[in-house]
Amino acid sequence: MAEPVSSERVKPERINIEADVLIIGGGTAGCLAAYEARQAGGEGLKIVIMEKAFIRNSGCLSAGMNALNMYINQGSPEDVVAYVRYDFCGAPVREDILLSVAVEVNETVALMEQAGLPIKKREDGRYLNRGKWNIEVNGSQLKPITASMAIEAGAEIYNRVYMTDLIIVNGQCEGAVGFGVRDGKFYVCRSKNTLICAGGAAGLWRSNSNGDAHHRIWYFPFNTGGSYAMCKRAGAQMTSFEVRIVPIRTKDTYSPTGTLAIGMNAPMVNALGQSFMREDPYYVERGGHTAPTLIRVLAFERETLAHRGPVVMDTTQGDPYKVAGLKSQYLDMSPCIVLYWGCNDIDPSKEPIEVDASDPAIVGAHAGMAGAWTKGTSRETSIERLYVSGDALGGAPSRFISGSWTCGRLAARAMVAALKDGDYQLADLDEAVIDDMENRTFGPLIAFTEKEKEGLWTDGTLMNGILPKQMEDRMQKIMEEYCGGRKQWFYVNETYLGIARKHIQRMRRTQLQYLCARDLHELQLAWDVINRLDVCQLVIEHMDYRKETRFPGYVNRTDYPDLDPEFDCFVNSVWDPVTDEVTCFKVPYDQLVPGDRTKESI
Ligand SMILES: Cc1cc2nc3c(=O)[nH]c(=O)nc-3n(C[C@H](O)[C@H](O)[C@H](O)COP(=O)(O)OP(=O)(O)OC[C@H]3O[C@@H](n4cnc5c(N)ncnc54)[C@H](O)[C@@H]3O)c2cc1C
Repeated sequence: MAEPVSSERVKPERINIEADVLIIGGGTAGCLAAYEARQAGGEGLKIVIMEKAFIRNSGCLSAGMNALNMYINQGSPEDVVAYVRYDFCGAPVREDILLSVAVEVNETVALMEQAGLPIKKREDGRYLNRGKWNIEVNGSQLKPITASMAIEAGAEIYNRVYMTDLIIVNGQCEGAVGFGVRDGKFYVCRSKNTLICAGGAAGLWRSNSNGDAHHRIWYFPFNTGGSYAMCKRAGAQMTSFEVRIVPIRTKDTYSPTGTLAIGMNAPMVNALGQSFMREDPYYVERGGHTAPTLIRVLAFERETLAHRGPVVMDTTQGDPYKVAGLKSQYLDMSPCIVLYWGCNDIDPSKEPIEVDASDPAIVGAHAGMAGAWTKGTSRETSIERLYVSGDALGGAPSRFISGSWTCGRLAARAMVAALKDGDYQLADLDEAVIDDMENRTFGPLIAFTEKEKEGLWTDGTLMNGILPKQMEDRMQKIMEEYCGGRKQWFYVNETYLGIARKHIQRMRRTQLQYLCARDLHELQLAWDVINRLDVCQLVIEHMDYRKETRFPGYVNRTDYPDLDPEFDCFVNSVWDPVTDEVTCFKVPYDQLVPGDRTKESI
């Protein structure tokens, strides 16, 4: 047994900041929110961004992107809504929010082009489109360009500050607290309005990649559910946590497949050489190779489960000119696949590309629907003065990059309008409240100084404490096996979910007190797992509540395999801090765009 190391904790320096607009997460939505807040609020407005990484390279855009998936190449904003509904097999979506984004999305893209984003053009000068709602970009520098919008707007940017909790006073949000992941300081930002856009949640389920490659997943691995967890803990109404995304992507590199499917017109083919989406009548009836995402995911799962895998995307039949351009397209977005092909002698014109299901992720702006519920199109949550955008906003999927930019701008306008409405003054706050928040923020570090006295094993791990990685492994195993992970091919039933609930509750209620962090890096990992566990609770309760299969491929319920008209609605929830229970309830769907919800309008 190693000798316990003595390390009395020094009280962290406290940094007090005041703002008119606090933005948590300087990503896609956050940077454009800062830009728009300056436009709408003028020079005097104090805009603060708290970013846990480094703003020029953080978030979903950090590896670059080669397409903007929301752009109106033809038709109207209403047609976009009809398309999103169709892509979710007619499920309820927040049409009001989608419309508000679609109306402005083209203007936002023009703004970004002016800011330096290279957008590919046709000979006639029009943007090069991929289908109706998508345009191609040379987006390797997408994040630095997006970040420049916030930097040039004069936002006060704090990099490497991990926000942990919101400050709620008299039911209103008045800022947030966090810690510096490098400097170890305690940051207290009081703000008249707070916007959360800290992305979605990766890493709830186990990664297919092991060891040092465990971060090689589809979703951005360092968005770990902070958006949702902070909103939930503040008492905000949440929505659609049963609508996770199961991404079918290139095997092992988990690079996007839209480049192959839409860009190359490469079909999914099974080991028998069958292009099942185009040949199997079940899929043909549902749209063939352009069937809704859910159906395409389900088809991949069924083929693999029936042992007709591996499933590939057949690039060998494609236009050789386009196939030759694949590498440069992926260098704009997911350079790892180009290295992978190089290392493994793969030539996509001669060899098809194998695809696989990545671990599920919880997102609100891509092909998933989870997030905070918002009032009308204000982006304000059920907590006053707390706003959300990007992946943090729920019920309105398929906004993607350009929609998240736009959504951030719209949130900023709403916040500035709220400021102009009255002379809002921040309440006096008892120092003891902030002291408590500080203790909670640094809790795992404090726990380590206590637990190390009780003894360490020879490898430096605690005899009577749990390190973040250990807790993350346990959480991911539970979610994988009992909450419809890839191991279960995304199938769940009430019994499995009951077991998941029991174990995740035990972790949250009795084991979190043993969570220890040996340094600031581990403190960050500790908060990642605290937040993820909070999101796991929402996912399990929402999945269990929706007693039907409305999102096949994503959540396949063996006990309720069909649609139930009773669930043609949103499932929302609120968490009770006293009982630690999540209460789910139904919220009616409001169809604004008329027409058959299971069909595209153009
Ligand atoms: C691999 C991948 C490929 C995609 N491909 C496309 C595509 O081709 N086309 C398209 O249009 N869309 C695509 N998308 C979707 C699009 O990128 C996202 O919908 C959008 O970027 C989400 O924006 P966001 O602002 O919510 O999140 P992000 O841009 O990820 O921003 C979140 C920010 O919050 C920070 N943060 C997280 N937690 C905290 C915390 N606790 N405190 C402080 N800061 C925090 C993060 O570091 C990050 O900077 C893709 C997404 C992924 C993951």
